[in-house]
Amino acid sequence: MMAESLNGVQLSTKWQDASNREAAILCYMGEQVPLIYCLEAEPQQGEEEQKVEERLLCPLECFLFGEDPCVGLEKLQQHSGCSSAQQCGRVFKEGETVYSCRDCAIDPTCVLCIECFQKSVHKSHRYKMHASAGGGFCDCGDLEAWKTGPCCSQHDPGTSVNMETDECVMDPGLRERAQMLFHLLLRYTTDMLVWEETNELSEELKPKVKQDTYFCVLYNDEHHSYDHVIYTLQRAIACDQNQAQIYTALIDKEGRKAVKRGTLGSCQQAKDNIRRNSEHIIQKPLRVEILHTAVMAHQTFALRLGAWFQKIFGYSVGLREVFCQVALEPAADNNNPCLISRLMLHDAKLYKGARKVVHELIFSSLLMDTEYKRQFAMKFTEHYKQLQEDFICDDHQRNISITALSVQIFTVPTLARQLIEEGSVIKVIVDTVMDMMREHLDSNQRFHFQGHNPDKFFRVQVIFHDLRYILISKPSVWTETLREKFLEGLHVFLRFLCCMQGMEEVKRQLGQHVEVEPEWEAGFSLQMQLRYILAMFQDWCSSDERVLLLAFQECHRALMSCTNQPFRSEPVDNYMCKQILHTRLYKVSQEPVSIHLPISRLLAGLYVLLCQTGAIQYLPDFVDTVQLNFTELAEQPLRCVVLAAQVCADMWRRNGLSLVSQVYYYQDLKCRDEMFDKDIIMLQIAASKMDPNHFLMLVLLRFELFDIFNGNSSSKDQEVLKQWNRLTEEMLYLIIVIVGERYVPGISHVTKEDVTMREVIHLLCIQPMAHSSLVKSLPDNESHETWLETVVPKVAVFKKPGVSGHGLYELKKECLKEFNPFFYHYSRPQHSKAEEAQKKRRTQEGSDKALRPPVPPPFCPGFSNIVYLLCCDIFIHILRRIFQKAVEDCSSRWTEPMIQRALHLVGQALLEEKTQLESNSTEEVTFDFSLKAQKTGSEHGKSLFHFLTKIKSLPSLKAQNDMITWNLQMFEVVKCLREKSGPVTSFSLDHSKMEECVQDKEKAERKRKAEAAKAHRQKIMAQMSAMQKNFIESNKMLYDNVPESSSQSDTAASVESLDVDESRVAVGPQQGVCSTDWGPQICILCQEEQEVQAQAPAMVLTACVQRSTVLTQDRGKTLSPEGGYPLFMPPDLAVGTHTGSCGHVMHATCWQKYFEAVQNTTRNRLHADLIIDLENGEYMCPLCKSLCNTVIPLIPVEPSKLNYESAELVGQHLTLERWVQIMSSRIRGLRGTWETDKNCKEAAEEAMVLFDESQADFRSILSFGVQEPPKFSRSITEMLGVCSTTVHRVGLQTAPNDLCPYVPVMSWNTCAYTIQAIESMLQEEGKALFGSLQNRQLSGLKALVQFSAFQRLKSRKAVIQKHFADMLAVLVPVPTVVNAPSILEVDFFHLLVGLILSIPALYQEEAVDLQPSAVSTAFNHLYLLHLVTMGHMLQVLLASHDCAVIRGPEEGDEAHAAAEIFSIMSQHTDGLRAGVSGFSVESVKRGVLPFLRCAALFFNCLTGVPPPEELSGTAESPESQLPLLCSYLSLPSNLFQLFQEHRDVGITLIKRWCGNSAISKALKGESQIIRYPRKRNRLIDLPEDYSVLLNQASHFKCPNSSDDERKHPTLCLQCGVTLCAQSPCCQQQLNGEEVGACTAHAAICGAGVGMFLRVRECEIILMASKTRGSPHPAPYLDDYGETDPQLGRGNPLHLCPERYRKLLHMWQQHCVLEEIARSLELLNVMFPFEWQML
Ligand SMILES: [Zn+2]
Ligand SMILES: [Zn+2]
Ligand SMILES: [Zn+2]
Ligand SMILES: [Zn+2]
Ligand SMILES: [Zn+2]
Ligand SMILES: [Zn+2]
Ligand SMILES: [Zn+2]
Repeated sequence: MMAESLNGVQLSTKWQDASNREAAILCYMGEQVPLIYCLEAEPQQGEEEQKVEERLLCPLECFLFGEDPCVGLEKLQQHSGCSSAQQCGRVFKEGETVYSCRDCAIDPTCVLCIECFQKSVHKSHRYKMHASAGGGFCDCGDLEAWKTGPCCSQHDPGTSVNMETDECVMDPGLRERAQMLFHLLLRYTTDMLVWEETNELSEELKPKVKQDTYFCVLYNDEHHSYDHVIYTLQRAIACDQNQAQIYTALIDKEGRKAVKRGTLGSCQQAKDNIRRNSEHIIQKPLRVEILHTAVMAHQTFALRLGAWFQKIFGYSVGLREVFCQVALEPAADNNNPCLISRLMLHDAKLYKGARKVVHELIFSSLLMDTEYKRQFAMKFTEHYKQLQEDFICDDHQRNISITALSVQIFTVPTLARQLIEEGSVIKVIVDTVMDMMREHLDSNQRFHFQGHNPDKFFRVQVIFHDLRYILISKPSVWTETLREKFLEGLHVFLRFLCCMQGMEEVKRQLGQHVEVEPEWEAGFSLQMQLRYILAMFQDWCSSDERVLLLAFQECHRALMSCTNQPFRSEPVDNYMCKQILHTRLYKVSQEPVSIHLPISRLLAGLYVLLCQTGAIQYLPDFVDTVQLNFTELAEQPLRCVVLAAQVCADMWRRNGLSLVSQVYYYQDLKCRDEMFDKDIIMLQIAASKMDPNHFLMLVLLRFELFDIFNGNSSSKDQEVLKQWNRLTEEMLYLIIVIVGERYVPGISHVTKEDVTMREVIHLLCIQPMAHSSLVKSLPDNESHETWLETVVPKVAVFKKPGVSGHGLYELKKECLKEFNPFFYHYSRPQHSKAEEAQKKRRTQEGSDKALRPPVPPPFCPGFSNIVYLLCCDIFIHILRRIFQKAVEDCSSRWTEPMIQRALHLVGQALLEEKTQLESNSTEEVTFDFSLKAQKTGSEHGKSLFHFLTKIKSLPSLKAQNDMITWNLQMFEVVKCLREKSGPVTSFSLDHSKMEECVQDKEKAERKRKAEAAKAHRQKIMAQMSAMQKNFIESNKMLYDNVPESSSQSDTAASVESLDVDESRVAVGPQQGVCSTDWGPQICILCQEEQEVQAQAPAMVLTACVQRSTVLTQDRGKTLSPEGGYPLFMPPDLAVGTHTGSCGHVMHATCWQKYFEAVQNTTRNRLHADLIIDLENGEYMCPLCKSLCNTVIPLIPVEPSKLNYESAELVGQHLTLERWVQIMSSRIRGLRGTWETDKNCKEAAEEAMVLFDESQADFRSILSFGVQEPPKFSRSITEMLGVCSTTVHRVGLQTAPNDLCPYVPVMSWNTCAYTIQAIESMLQEEGKALFGSLQNRQLSGLKALVQFSAFQRLKSRKAVIQKHFADMLAVLVPVPTVVNAPSILEVDFFHLLVGLILSIPALYQEEAVDLQPSAVSTAFNHLYLLHLVTMGHMLQVLLASHDCAVIRGPEEGDEAHAAAEIFSIMSQHTDGLRAGVSGFSVESVKRGVLPFLRCAALFFNCLTGVPPPEELSGTAESPESQLPLLCSYLSLPSNLFQLFQEHRDVGITLIKRWCGNSAISKALKGESQIIRYPRKRNRLIDLPEDYSVLLNQASHFKCPNSSDDERKHPTLCLQCGVTLCAQSPCCQQQLNGEEVGACTAHAAICGAGVGMFLRVRECEIILMASKTRGSPHPAPYLDDYGETDPQLGRGNPLHLCPERYRKLLHMWQQHCVLEEIARSLELLNVMFPFEWQML
């Protein structure tokens, strides 16, 4: 215990002086470590960390530096002038975004972390981003990883001293101590990590005080399920479920966890229990160990040392180098491997947490330095086999296996070369694979995978990645050793391929269907693994002539040694057309055949390379040409091609799907380049070497068509005939391909670019395509590079995407001539699609429909003989027989596709002849197809040419007519070329032309008629679809911002139809004619028309009520759960209630029936509750599928015209003051009918003082005119109730209660809020206030206003009267109300709507239902509007913080009036508005404008009085429309004049308003003041470049946890906050339910509506309520106009403003809910996502 009193420096001196320094340090550790760690069952991390720093790490550092580490460190850095490494080396976590550069990275495994990328030159290159699988590290600073820009600005060595100098400068003492200390500690760490249960602690480490405490440690495995472990723990150690879950999660994450601490006995008991409970017949028990506490403590410290080492490396490169030396140093006793090898070899036995530490230690030391990386790589290669074997048996993921390190070393070009030369790494890898696959070998030494273990097989295949890494960059310089070692590698690789050559043979099943589908996936996944490797081997070979020749030799030898698939018969002679072929017989349909021929194919590939490089001339020196029998070499590939053809011809039906799949993959993009394509090449090689007649005879024999074409075989079996026909088609197709497919470098003079270009052209001939689909359809190389970008601009035009959809490439016209309908990479469906598309195009262009063969590039000399296939006797014979059958028209013997192919071949032959004649003299040209075609058989009128002219008139070949004509013309052209004369039209052609002419005329006539009929039909269809479209267009929610010209004109028309002289004033005694007629409406359900009448059954409008924060001025404001008093909307409009409608009208009864039916059917549908919330009354609009949750009844209103004379009369008596008095006394009088309030005395007094209400009596209100209220049918009243209950329930988020006094209030509120939302949206989009709404929007709004107005009929009058009194009290003193809110606490538009809609209730008399007459209403509206406007103006003034003093130009009445008000106001708010010395009239006007616009919309909907026409146009500035608005609203255009008009009242009121104590509080800054005009909300600004967002996300720290688990940063687009989604750390309680961070946030931020961007996934999430959400593509596009969900392609992404605006509109127009419902309906989810956990 002495040691504790010593400080770090003292301790280190003591160690330094000790006789055995190592022992001294170890003893100290042995004493201290158990005192720090594992003192309790659960680790106390903070405390432990502090102790370990203080008592262990600090003394160790003191020892290292020999003094105070701070001093030492400074010295060290002064000396070397270099702080740390120039490589970034950041280790990636799983899911972290990493970047690669397609321009500069040596290979795709070279990646940068986001920090380095942002500071690198690659930011402006063609970069790629993807999510890391974890485990790799950043290659910034690695000179070998990048062609240019290897370092980011941060890691650029140019700024500091070279690393090498570092070593020599290090103090020798320091070096010596470092060596000793690192060795000691690394050995300690190694010993502790590779610990085995039975080990004993060394003498030094043995605890001095014997303690009998142990841990029972449970290890992770991948066999037991999570639940099983939880179950086991609960049983075995008696913990509750929660604890068991925590343990299990930790075991999964860290790899192990101590689950019990106690005596040896109790731990043993726990161990037995766990093992027993986890054991199962098929499952081994869980791994459990009992470890002494001291051992556990040392293991914990050993892990801690990992991080400490990394910190030390940061001090100096020299220290890091010392560590590397120590790690690689051979062990003293030579029996043990070096320390790092021990750790490596033990990797598979280590638990996850320990592995991570070891790997990071390797990353930060050995891999950071070229020389040590090399030494480490040698060690790694040395142990390679062992490591892989361990990995195969290990059940952990590869990313936490040491084997995953291969990517870090094998991909470094110089290192790879060294490893090949010095470590024979190719051989090592192939040998390793071979060893592991040996168990799959059958007696013939070929692989057979039936019954293999897929998991293990998958792990074996991963080894092939290493071979790819090694071969990834081919050498520029070859040394002799490299040649030797490479060929040695190739040799073993060929041995491996030998086991594949001919593996998994199939034999045609006859009679009976195959019983067990044979295994085939394993063979093909192996083939797919090998694909890149084979390509890379060939690539390497091509870079050195000698290697290429030797490789060919080796490969040929290997092929010769394969004895698979021997012939079973002796050769025989086969005769046809006087030709003899001496060959052995073999029938694919009867004997075994294999689809796997890797060696044949590799040989074909190498042969082409020999031709390409010219090395072929030396071939005889390497391979005996006698042995090179190409007939033999082509045999196997030919069988394979025939197999595919026979499968096509349905001959192998009984062999099941397995074979069909194999044939599919054989020709599919993923395999074809090293399978089908190479077979074709081998056949081309054979065709170039063999006599053409013999070649074709061989083909006929193998296709089993020889006898048929010899006329020796016949059958009447339709099935057999069909097979022969299909086989003939396939055979002809093969000849087309062999002769025509020349786009392989070496076969013709084409470049790789030409090859890609041809692929692209043919893909685009099918249809225009998006970039990503093109990429997917093109073969890639090992770097996943397709060279599409360089090629595509040459052949295609880019068509930009619209607001939805994606960008497309369209083929350039001049490329169409390259189109080959028999392109060999077309799949069957692609072939017919392309053919159809091209024929259609030609018809549209008015050309003929002949799809002629394109002119191919000439063959290289080595292959030029192939063309003679097209003029040999057998060829002519084959074609003649085919055409003859067509001419004789024996229908079962020929098919149209057969003729089509034959015609194509004729075309190819004629093109070839033409080309030859054009470039050579006629005498030199030996290609004589046209001559033979005309001569052979002509004596009987049976020449090919004759047949051709005859089939032209066959009606069954009408579709081929154009092609036949073209062929005949070609004959003519060739003939002319032969005769060296210009093309003269011969008689025969003329004749046929005339014939054609007549035919054409008839055809034209027929066509004209057909077209006329078609046009007529189309017109009708178009009309119908236009109607439908219009209907849908005008009825679905509007997202697009195009001006609605049609609806505008609609509105304009209705305006014009009115008398122009009519008053365009909506309020007051000058009010125009009220007209709210609905006109007849058609029910969308029963299609019947009905007038909207008071006594008729109700018509209803679909509607959706939702809470909204779209207008909020205080986002994120939480409302108290009680919801406060909803009568007054606070001016921040924090949460409003929006009611939208798609404008579709139904009978109430029809709707009810529909609604019930929907409820019943949907209830039974799977997951329907995710789409519509039945409990909340949701349904989809039957017509447009918009989401709705209620209906609004259409309220009929009789048109009425004011009697202007009586209005004028009333006006003379009824001043504002008088009106207030009347209201006041009415309210006082009514008070008796509600409750009495003691506190009212004060209020009454105030009212008395300000407005002497005794002037009026209780009933004077009635004297200005009353009338009977309308009577509505029962169904209308009922619907009023339905709607108001929904609004109340949704708006207040409360249980339905139609007796709640706030039911009417919520109706007024939603009316006001919806108008405000619409006004804001119109303003935002710069649209006119009137006339720009679509009809359906307008009718929705009108219905909503009318409904709100008449909702009062459903409520108790007293309730409404009280609401009115309370609201009025904000403006004028009301005798019954105390504590009315101040004018800064209410939204005046909500107030206006409430007052206007509730005032009729005051007219209610006990015995009779009454409502104000038109005249009374006019004055009520006028005075209420005046009062509210005055209040609002003052509100705007009080809130203005604009310091401008009234300036010159504002002189005049307006300014004068304004100044006066300002001075009165200032008097009453003296000293509180410091710094505000005045205001500008304009700014007040701007502030009041939105209110006036809303009021205009409101009164328009309420009264139907048309607005001044100018308001239907867009104004230059919204302010310029102010006078028009004022005139419509009967306000003075100089608003300040209001106060003068009602002078006494005005001043009184200003005093009253300013006097409210809440105002002085607000002005003192104690509460928030809203400024006017209110700010308009938008979604947050997004950066243009998506990587900026990724960068921000990478800095994201979860607020609630500090673990290094992968997080999902998710951005709220409403407020910009970043949340930690989908993670248990940030779950919250919401209404007693556990929900994810996003759901919880959306509840507050968007009142349930959420719009989030999941940054890593590049995906928008729309959310509504807890359970509903839907993904939506993010508004980011790559350069090809495509979105990239999940960043699957990883191209650079840029913001698309149009798409973002579309999202904004969706949000502003409250369509999020609807969008979700729509997309869910579309998806029809099977596996619902738990949105609430987001
Ligand atoms: Zn980096
Ligand atoms: Zn960097
Ligand atoms: Zn770059
Ligand atoms: Zn109906
Ligand atoms: Zn609808
Ligand atoms: Zn938010
Ligand atoms: Zn979190």
